[in-house]
Amino acid sequence: MMHIIYEPERQRMAIQKSGRLHKASMDFLSARGLIFPANDRTLILPCENFDIDLLYLRDDDIPEYVRSGVADFGIVGENVLAEKGADLPIIAKMDFGRCKLVIAAPKDSRIRTPEDLGGKRIATSYPKLLSEYLAREGIEASIVPISGSTEITPELDLADAICDLVQTGSTLKAHDLVPLFTVMESQAVLIESPLKKQAKERFLSQINLKSKL
Ligand code: ATP
Ligand code: ZN
Repeated sequence: MMHIIYEPERQRMAIQKSGRLHKASMDFLSARGLIFPANDRTLILPCENFDIDLLYLRDDDIPEYVRSGVADFGIVGENVLAEKGADLPIIAKMDFGRCKLVIAAPKDSRIRTPEDLGGKRIATSYPKLLSEYLAREGIEASIVPISGSTEITPELDLADAICDLVQTGSTLKAHDLVPLFTVMESQAVLIESPLKKQAKERFLSQINLKSKL
């Protein structure tokens, strides 16, 4: 005789491996009652008391993992979701990771209004969000794609302005940059993949969260 043992499917949640959202994401899950072994070197971390594993990823990769259904959930900044063009269901807005994507220019620059950006070079890690902003404002400027540390590009004369995330503004200040225009406000959000709804609903209700769909 064959015995069919019902093994509830394990869920996967993608969170940032290290960086600004890592600790707050872990704290959020702990506060919901999830217990994980102490190990920050692994890529997959099994939860000890719920049927879910954590995937530790670069934040930039989280939307793709969730979109494809490889991860059922993810915690990521709205800025990254929007830059990747990922239109995924948001279950909850987290109360952390708040920041703004701004255009900033050197203190002594003559840039005062968005129109002054016409013909200028703007360095950013957010080319899609910046180009949408420029299109909205009807401005033609050249976008200099950079993967990190955009704040040094004006002093090195790679760019006339930057479009970067700020929270307190201290990084900008340290480089004599002044925030001028806001492209987007952001915070971390809990997203879910559009696939395998049933198993997800069950997990969310176990941790007292409800899917918005
Ligand atoms: P990864 O190695 O995962 O790619 P990263 O360097 O791209 O990391 P972090 O700097 O750790 O990313 O930022 C992660 C997220 O934290 C950002 O996408 C944003 O949503 C949020 N954030 C909050 N405040 C800031 C800030 N001052 N600067 C940058 N990101 C911030
Ligand atoms: Zn990143």
